[in-house]
Amino acid sequence: MGLRKNPNNMNQKIFIKTFGCQMNEYDSNRIFDSVKKIGYEKTEKYEEANCYLLNTCHIRDKAKEKVYSEIGRVKKIFRSKKKPLVIIAGCVAQAENQEMLKREPYIDLVIGPQAYHKINDTILNYTEKKKKKIEETEFDAVSKFNYLSKIKNEAGKVSSFLTIQEGCDKFCHFCVVPYTRGPEYSRPFKQILDEAKYLVDSGAKEIILLGQNVNAYDNEGYRLSDLILNIEKLHDVKRVRYTTSHPKDMTEDLIEVYKTSKKLMPLVHLPVQSGSNKILESMNRKHTIEEYLSTFDKLKEINPKIEFSSDFIISYPGEEDQDFKDTLNLIERVKFINSYSFIFSPRPGTVAENLDLVEKKISIERLQKIQNILFENQIQLNKSLEDKVVDVLVENLTDDQSKTFGRSEHMTSVIFNGKSSDIGKIVKVRIKDSNRNSLFGEIVTNSNQKVA
Ligand code: SF4
Repeated sequence: MGLRKNPNNMNQKIFIKTFGCQMNEYDSNRIFDSVKKIGYEKTEKYEEANCYLLNTCHIRDKAKEKVYSEIGRVKKIFRSKKKPLVIIAGCVAQAENQEMLKREPYIDLVIGPQAYHKINDTILNYTEKKKKKIEETEFDAVSKFNYLSKIKNEAGKVSSFLTIQEGCDKFCHFCVVPYTRGPEYSRPFKQILDEAKYLVDSGAKEIILLGQNVNAYDNEGYRLSDLILNIEKLHDVKRVRYTTSHPKDMTEDLIEVYKTSKKLMPLVHLPVQSGSNKILESMNRKHTIEEYLSTFDKLKEINPKIEFSSDFIISYPGEEDQDFKDTLNLIERVKFINSYSFIFSPRPGTVAENLDLVEKKISIERLQKIQNILFENQIQLNKSLEDKVVDVLVENLTDDQSKTFGRSEHMTSVIFNGKSSDIGKIVKVRIKDSNRNSLFGEIVTNSNQKVA
């Protein structure tokens, strides 16, 4: 696709609001890289925007209604100003498409995640020709990534996302992703390596490989394990991570990588959703708890420092006390860290949409119980690091510029007394204090210190 420039769009400002997951964050960055070519600058002040883009997420409850109430807010802000171009992108755009334009005339364009390569032409067609409202929601992942891979990331972030895979063929009964992001698609191996090099050339030290089923990656026989081993060969890459994985796709080659890789971090985000085989089956998760634990045991044997994080759906329809206890037992066994838990809420169009809900009071009690345990695990892990030395990849200065911020190998925030010249380096930090979310420490200059 050729790039068109429109002098009318020069010095236009775009405000992008992103909801949801890291894939949406990655997409928002790529959308901006693209619209820059037709003259848009980014603004963090929505009131000065000529274009207001909402990159939406369909995972959370009442996603659609949140979009309309956000548009209501924008309308108020711009009541006495020139109306901005209003674009709805992301999974709600994909799911609702034409309906959004009918229901809310303030919206100008609706563009789904597989049509982002067309965003410049879509904007220009609309603004130049004052064409009627446009909705672009066809699935065309191949063209999208062919186009987006030619865009150079200039954000220069120390930790950079790189989407390698999109979509899902698994159809868990609670999830909208197979409908909003389409079937599983793996980007060409070489295209990903080229993009990784671009990111590293522009300052990235950590590459986080993204996909809705990142470990289902398969391009002409190349698997996620091949990508990890090739990306870590780039000299300036210090750390590699991947998310989000499906337990069924934790193949032997990926497990083996934990033996050979020098830069793959020892935190595995492997959503299990429930500790009960009965519930896993009714969710259509396609694996058992025994299989999950087998992966856990194998990885722990390779490296006892590996920790697991997960997502949990509490009170999925049919969850009885025993099923909930099974989830508690699993948490006790695995000692998950950095995990997320939510009460089930139905998504339109999914198999679980019309199932009978667990009583609200019971659900709230279960959620509180599980969160208390997960938080306590996190507190204990962080406490166990006090007076130990951890490796920290330094990302930036804190907002008041008085400290430095980085992340441990397990992704925990670390705040310490570094310098701006430490940004992009791995430094050793002695932990002095901690809370649930963060570690606080002092940089260590003596390299004889024992590392946790
Ligand atoms: S594996 Fe299940 S939860 Fe994950 S994206 Fe696919 S359908 Fe959704």
